[in-house]
Amino acid sequence: MNFIALILYLSSMQNSGVVMRIKGLLFLLVIISQIPFAFRTGAAEPIPVVTTLPVLKDLVEAVGGSHVQVSALISGFESEHTYTPKPSDLFSIQNAAILFKIGLGLETWVNPLIENAGRSDLLIIISSEDVPLIQGKDLHADDIEHHAEGNPHIWLDPSNVRIMVQHIKNSLIRIDPTHESDYVENAAQYRHQLETLETDLLEKVKGLTDKRIITHHPAWPYFAARFGFVIKGNILTQVGSEPSAKKMASLIQLIKKENIQVIVSEPQLNQKIPMILAEETGVHIVSLSPISGAISGTDRYLDLIRYNVETLVAALEKPN
Ligand SMILES: [Zn+2]
Repeated sequence: MNFIALILYLSSMQNSGVVMRIKGLLFLLVIISQIPFAFRTGAAEPIPVVTTLPVLKDLVEAVGGSHVQVSALISGFESEHTYTPKPSDLFSIQNAAILFKIGLGLETWVNPLIENAGRSDLLIIISSEDVPLIQGKDLHADDIEHHAEGNPHIWLDPSNVRIMVQHIKNSLIRIDPTHESDYVENAAQYRHQLETLETDLLEKVKGLTDKRIITHHPAWPYFAARFGFVIKGNILTQVGSEPSAKKMASLIQLIKKENIQVIVSEPQLNQKIPMILAEETGVHIVSLSPISGAISGTDRYLDLIRYNVETLVAALEKPN
């Protein structure tokens, strides 16, 4: 939003009462926007935080508690790859003290927003830093999602989230050192919850004899590596593209030949292709979500991971 350009435009107009009042208001906004962020928020005001994904919002809220006011740019129903920003997203970034993203080339759509926000003082945290990455080459040869630095879906492994929570804690302390002890305590508590969840879910996976799945897009290598699932193929190599007839034929052949029982479909993507595969082969479709909020009861990260593991275990135990 360029107030100064608007003021210049209004200055060229005749000074009616209404125009004068708008100009007064705009001058006030310009003055407010020049005051450094730290002076605008009193000690009692929660820190305005913006995150790209709803999963990050949940994690920042877990660590920040009542000291943060968090908004996520995408909802659970949009793809993390192909989101089209809304005008209000720019406003959210302009008013934030910290922006959390995953990085690794995932949220390419947020970069123009950050540029246009014109906020040189915005603290941008890449939460994937220090996370051990699974490279594209570890996936099936023709199923590489085109991320040069490694697959970006790191949050689907709770062990990686322990590292992400450290970044969140450190950045909140940097912005708001007064509440350091709260952030340290909340982060420690959340890490404990992550560990308990992981132990509990690993126990549920243990009894499975068949852990093979076909996934909708390459979102699941970290999830599979942590819980012992085996990804035999992906329907989409990139979100936004459709599989070719040749790819469909090879998937059908793979499912039949290896007797694969379960396809993981995702609510953010087109359901048509998994349905065709199910009709052709009798494979069972199970809907899991890589991001929180799309499936009822999965707004919190811990619930999302529990849902994904338990639903998949149930499907692999009892295929059609
Ligand atoms: Zn993805």
